[in-house]
Amino acid sequence: MGVRLIFSKMNTIIIIDWKYEFEVLGMILVSACLAGLEVRYNGTHCLHDKINQLIKEGDAITVCPELLGGLSTPREPAEIVGGTGEDVLDGKASVIDKAGNNVTESFIIGSYETLKKALELKAKLIVLKENSPSCGSSMIYSGDFNGKKVAGNGVTAALLRRNGIRVVSEEEFTWDLNKG
Ligand code: SF4
Repeated sequence: MGVRLIFSKMNTIIIIDWKYEFEVLGMILVSACLAGLEVRYNGTHCLHDKINQLIKEGDAITVCPELLGGLSTPREPAEIVGGTGEDVLDGKASVIDKAGNNVTESFIIGSYETLKKALELKAKLIVLKENSPSCGSSMIYSGDFNGKKVAGNGVTAALLRRNGIRVVSEEEFTWDLNKG
């Protein structure tokens, strides 16, 4: 479901969703790599201009679930093997890095730390980087390390949604901004 930003000022975002219902949100949490922080596994970022603008205007703060889970940059790329983020939370799938290490625990810790932050900030909207095994909210890599993607949530996106927090990807956020 999309979210269109129609007005922004310090600490307050007023949005209109597809049902045309107004809602006032508190602080927005965003994936740190979208704000230009070099926290990805390979030390790069995925700077997204609109997200960066939210940060500069004081409407959003950054979070990186994998670093919150104790991992560092650079690190081996990791993918969910045997399911989706929901399956990882339920103990039915694992997160494995390219070197074969099981990093499931770090991903789960990172997801709960992110949830804690979101609850502390009373954030109702989180914009997360698509395709990531933590942050993906529509698509994630397949677990075969071959570049293929499958439908599903990353671990953090799954936990946030289970707790009633609205998660959108940067692609969805951009699309809705463009429509607005
Ligand atoms: S865990 Fe999320 S915020 Fe951190 S680098 Fe990966 S996609 Fe970006």
